Amino acid sequence: APITPHRPIQALPDQLISQIAAGEVVERPSAVVKELLENALDSGATQITVRLEEGGVKRIAITDNGRGIAQDQLPLALARHATSKIASLHDLENVGTLGFRGEALASIASVAAVTVTSRTADAAHAWEIVGSHNGTVAPSSGAPGTTVDVQDLYFNTPARRKFLKSEQTEYGHCAEVVRRIALARPDVSFSLSHNGRTIDQWNISELARRSAHILGNDFAEARLALDESAGSLRLHGFAGLPTASKARADGQFFYVNGRFVRDKLLVHAVRMAYQDVLHGDRFPSYVLALDLDPSLVDVNVHPSKIEVRFRDSRSVHQFVFHAVQRALAQTSATAFGSVPA
Ligand code: ADP
Ligand code: MG
Repeated sequence: APITPHRPIQALPDQLISQIAAGEVVERPSAVVKELLENALDSGATQITVRLEEGGVKRIAITDNGRGIAQDQLPLALARHATSKIASLHDLENVGTLGFRGEALASIASVAAVTVTSRTADAAHAWEIVGSHNGTVAPSSGAPGTTVDVQDLYFNTPARRKFLKSEQTEYGHCAEVVRRIALARPDVSFSLSHNGRTIDQWNISELARRSAHILGNDFAEARLALDESAGSLRLHGFAGLPTASKARADGQFFYVNGRFVRDKLLVHAVRMAYQDVLHGDRFPSYVLALDLDPSLVDVNVHPSKIEVRFRDSRSVHQFVFHAVQRALAQTSATAFGSVPA
């Protein structure tokens, strides 16, 4: 049998705890982009700039024009399990912000070189903190809002660094995260640059325009607007017509209370709605947002929160299925010339 050294039980050092958590929260550069974008949105920003270098591994710098972090709060922003978003179990069960765990910045700061520069509306100038919650807070410059600058991801955890893919692959994942979030928030402007080159820029607009911009003309020209409510459930957005379907499932964007999710139940409900109009080997394209009372959905299932759990999954499935099916049925009766029964 392998001999493991026998050691007394001891509490792990803070830095190591954060590095272990970082394994879940910060899988790859795109996960950092997601966390920083969510923080920017939670701060009420209407303008967000994402600058990436070398697929995000060398640098991820995200600037927002949101509410900012006060000078005396900067160390707390980088401290583990410190958050301004929830304070109680009741808050957790009704969470309305994208973040709430209070561990993203601490985790990121444990595996990369982080500088947070921030200025609140009433401050005379910006302040910055470098490295960790133990870093000193020093005067800085800049407009109201926050910049989180993350450099040399995994520089101190070489084993993790080895799992990173090529610059192009990592960049692709980062860009996908920006697109997902930009689609959810047409009321916010975004810009994305890579290695000093502006790649995308989306001005504040409507979902109709933003989704045309992000999913392309094929989608814009063959989609149905839908907006249905039942009780506290509302489903709205655009369902692509069969002509906008794809050979891959890369045109599917589903949001629950503003959060991009990839949820089996929801994918299935939409798939079923398309059953009569779409060949089994084609994937529908859609941008659909489901809004419901936050207490009816548990977003605390996974650290990256891509999966959710509904309190009443049956009725959510039914609602989504019928809403999409009804929208599609209208067009098959009109656009395709078939006679309604
Ligand atoms: P969480 O988002 O779960 O609260 P984070 O570690 O992501 O945890 O952030 C910690 C805290 O730092 C947030 O609760 C928020 O108060 C503050 N913060 C982080 N990013 C920003 C930002 N871009 N603008 C304003 N405040 C921010
Ligand atoms: Mg956060």
